[in-house]
Amino acid sequence: MKRGLVWFTEDLRVDDNETFLKAIEENDEIIPVFLLDSSTDRLQFSVPRCGRAREKFIKESLINLQHQFNRRGGTLLVVSGTPNVELPRLCVEYQIRKVYTKKQVGSEEKMLQTEIKQQLLKLGVDFQTYSTSTLYHPDDLPFSVRDIPMLFTKFRKLAEKESSVRTPFDAPQRIVTPNLEGNPIVTKEYSTPDWLLGGEDAAQLRLAEFIWESHSIRTYKETRDQLTGLNFSSKFSAWLSQGCISPRRIYSEIKRYEREIVSNESTYWVIFELLWRDFFRFSFKKHPKAYFLLNGLGQQALYTQFDPRKFEAWTQGKTSETLINAGMNELRVTGFVSNRMRQILASYWVFGMQQDWRYGAAWFEHCLVDYDVASNWGNWAYIAGVGNDNRGGREFNIEKQAQLFDRDGAYRSSWQKSHNEL
Ligand SMILES: Cc1cc2nc3c(=O)[nH]c(=O)nc-3n(C[C@H](O)[C@H](O)[C@H](O)COP(=O)(O)OP(=O)(O)OC[C@H]3O[C@@H](n4cnc5c(N)ncnc54)[C@H](O)[C@@H]3O)c2cc1C
Repeated sequence: MKRGLVWFTEDLRVDDNETFLKAIEENDEIIPVFLLDSSTDRLQFSVPRCGRAREKFIKESLINLQHQFNRRGGTLLVVSGTPNVELPRLCVEYQIRKVYTKKQVGSEEKMLQTEIKQQLLKLGVDFQTYSTSTLYHPDDLPFSVRDIPMLFTKFRKLAEKESSVRTPFDAPQRIVTPNLEGNPIVTKEYSTPDWLLGGEDAAQLRLAEFIWESHSIRTYKETRDQLTGLNFSSKFSAWLSQGCISPRRIYSEIKRYEREIVSNESTYWVIFELLWRDFFRFSFKKHPKAYFLLNGLGQQALYTQFDPRKFEAWTQGKTSETLINAGMNELRVTGFVSNRMRQILASYWVFGMQQDWRYGAAWFEHCLVDYDVASNWGNWAYIAGVGNDNRGGREFNIEKQAQLFDRDGAYRSSWQKSHNEL
């Protein structure tokens, strides 16, 4: 009997999941595995990597993935432990011939995959990775990842002109696994906004709601910079970052909406933003380490110091700026803030407080429920002026932003409470 092991990471879905489909196609039986790896929760710039909001979202996504398997006749094995110990062990236990997993972009994750590949080769087990998280498949780009343009606009124009988005794969009807018994998935209580529920089912519901039920996609370009509300933006990011939905599935629904209802600048603009996501992921593949360096892609960082008192004031919403405090409170409590607020908060840390940008990025990594290595570090480097930009960074004028996006002060007053009160 041919057996393949599918190692799920940030691709917690059965729809449009090529890794998983390939394993089903090439084997009689599969062992789908998720590893709860607590060793990744080391401090980074003095901050733990994964906060409680994201931890909860991941667990919810796993519970839902388990349901997806059960509905199709299979089970998902959730195991605690480090991949380089558990994967070889499972391969021996289940007599696996090949391991299938998603290709990583972060430098540490890539190194780990290389190490595991070597270990498995010694056991006679193949190790195959697949690119499943971008809108454009890397093989379809009109340039190699090594030659990706430095600036987004050039990347976008080339991709749009000379490449096309592949049709998403449908989810399999049946999944054949042995009866697997792993660790129970225990979620810890943590209050996040109602709409932030992890898992593929919730992602599909949100897709339907944003596009087909509320038709909010029609006006997205005009509303996307707002600070509060559910439908001013898609809120797809957390599901995308854990792979509960694929960007190709979102794209195909937008295209259907454009054919059946309306095609306008707003419907296109969601795709435009998904291209930013692709751009950072592909740039990360080219520079897996540089985005974590003070000088980023090679420019000179303006500020190099780190003052723990300033960090405390910024993270706990105790600065002299009410708009910043509101944003930092919302981020810390819910794990989510709008794109515009992220830009304002990051700009204030870098230019207002004149600090090493990487501590800010690490705090966002800790808090964000939608944390994505490339989107977070790529956007931070961009704002700090050491990333994919030739304008020396993006400084936002706080008063002007408050006038534009919180004229009546409603946002500031709803998030004004200090850390202890929240
Ligand atoms: C400092 C900073 C840090 C960020 N960190 C993250 C992060 O860790 N994870 C993350 O997913 N996004 C990050 N973003 C990008 C963006 O703010 C969020 O993707 C967006 O706010 C999520 O809300 P939404 O899904 O409603 O987005 P929408 O406005 O509805 O956009 C649709 C999708 O396009 C993508 N997208 C939109 N804007 C960007 C962008 N600037 N860069 C990359 N992709 C984008 C996202 O996948 C998003 O879900 C960051 C932006 C900044 C300025």
